[in-house]
Amino acid sequence: MKKKTVLYIVVGLLIILIIGAWAIDMHLMSNNEPVVFSTWGRKYAPPRHEDKLKSSYLEVDENTVAEIGRGTLKQAVEISEEDANSLSEIINSGSWIEGTADCKSDCVINLKGHMTYYHSDCGTFNKYNLAEMSMYSSKAQEVSGKSLVLSEEDKTTVNTILEKYIILGIGSN
Ligand SMILES: [Zn+2]
Repeated sequence: MKKKTVLYIVVGLLIILIIGAWAIDMHLMSNNEPVVFSTWGRKYAPPRHEDKLKSSYLEVDENTVAEIGRGTLKQAVEISEEDANSLSEIINSGSWIEGTADCKSDCVINLKGHMTYYHSDCGTFNKYNLAEMSMYSSKAQEVSGKSLVLSEEDKTTVNTILEKYIILGIGSN
C-alpha cells in the first residue's frame, strides 16, 4: 500500500472513533448517566448515584444504633455494613420466643428499618409489634412482641460491636 492510502485509512478510522465516542456520550447524557469520554463542550453534571438512592429509600436503607438513656432516644449512629451483617446474623439465627422480656433496653438497633431493642446487661433483644406500640404508653410489658436471650458468647460479640459506636448501660443507671 502507498503511504497516502495508509494515512487515509488512519484518518478515516479516527473520525469513526470520535463520532462513536460522541454518540455514546450523547446517549449517556440523555439518560442522565455519567459520560465515558467527554461532555463535548456541554455543561453537564450527572446526578450522583448516592443522591438517587437517598431520595428513593430515605432512611430505610440505613443501619444505625442509638442509645436509650433515661427515657430519651439519642442521635442514631450509622454502623458499618460488616457490623450490620454480624448483628443481623445473630438476630436472625436466634431462637425467639413469644412475649417481650421486661427489660430496660439501653439501645435500639435499626437494620434497614427493622427496629430491635437491646439490653446490653443481660443480652436480651426485644421486638415490639409496632401497631400496638404507643409513644405515650409507659406500660411496655403490655405491648406484644417477641424476645431473644443471647448466649454469653453472642452477648459479648454484640456488646463489642455496639461499644464501637455508642455507650452501653446508660438506661440502666
Ligand atoms: Zn435485661
